[in-house]
Amino acid sequence: MIAILKNGVTPAQTKHLVDWLKAMNIDVHVSEGKEVTILGLIGNTSRVDMELLRSLDIVETVKRVSEPYKQANRKFHPKDTIVQANSIRIGSGYFAMIAGPCSVESEEQIIEVARAVKEGGADILRGGAFKPRTSPYAFQGLKDEGVRLLLEAKKATGMPIITEIMTITALPLFEDVDIIQVGARNMQNFDLLKELGKTKKPILLKRGLANTIEELLMSAEYIMSEGNENIILCERGIRTFETATRNTLDLSAVPVLHELTHLPVVVDPSHATGHSRLVAPMAAAAAACGADGIMIEVHNNPACALCDGAQSITPSQFQSINHQVRKILEAVR
Ligand code: PEP
Ligand code: MN
Repeated sequence: MIAILKNGVTPAQTKHLVDWLKAMNIDVHVSEGKEVTILGLIGNTSRVDMELLRSLDIVETVKRVSEPYKQANRKFHPKDTIVQANSIRIGSGYFAMIAGPCSVESEEQIIEVARAVKEGGADILRGGAFKPRTSPYAFQGLKDEGVRLLLEAKKATGMPIITEIMTITALPLFEDVDIIQVGARNMQNFDLLKELGKTKKPILLKRGLANTIEELLMSAEYIMSEGNENIILCERGIRTFETATRNTLDLSAVPVLHELTHLPVVVDPSHATGHSRLVAPMAAAAAACGADGIMIEVHNNPACALCDGAQSITPSQFQSINHQVRKILEAVR
């Protein structure tokens, strides 16, 4: 971290600031120029409150020269991480197609969709049991029963399953779940992240509706700092001024994340766009820009879905998207 001091700062003021930083176990390199004085802060600067430093009368500006995330940082871990969920690997050239309904609705529905997406080329089955809904009056998911039905679908098809956790007290229910999803709304539920960090389960961490890439990586860091390195990041669209789509799919996040981190990155074109007809083109674009996987909402009868029917595609549409995505992957590799 470097701090540039304002013009006209006296040596006494500089010394006072340096002593204050040293008291925090930070080594300081002082570079006094004709016009400006620059302080180079050396050591563990993650505990320095940048905003507080910037707010001091004698400080012009403060800049970080290294990222605040360490374990998620590619600089300290250049090789891609491969996350393994049961028999499926994700990352470093291993691509996973994740498909299934927004919510588990009944045994018939989840088994039928599971069989259909498997037939259509899916590697992993998704389905929400605990649903974070904007309205408390909307369908909230089948909860424990939903997890049980997903496990039935896993037994019937042999596919690994992914489902969302909303509160840590539900963790015992996730014992046989292959990947635990942390949804966009919980991306900064730090207590939940820390507890998931104490498990060895693969975690799919979705980007928050209004969170930066750095904040997403800091959330991954929360999980990793407790010992769990099995993290898959998910770009699912962010809030912008645009209203033509449910969210704005930030596809540039994929190559940016690949530069910054070794963790695999998947894209969710369903929640990103909110429209079933936009899922195919954005899934294709995600494959083309280097995503390590795609997660798509598929329903056997989208018009009657209890949640997110407008963005859900049918199993036959899924099959053709899968086909196209695999062709693109071959072309870009
Ligand atoms: C979901 O994938 O079921 C979901 C609720 O997505 P998000 O957290 O991205 O809104
Ligand atoms: Mn959904």
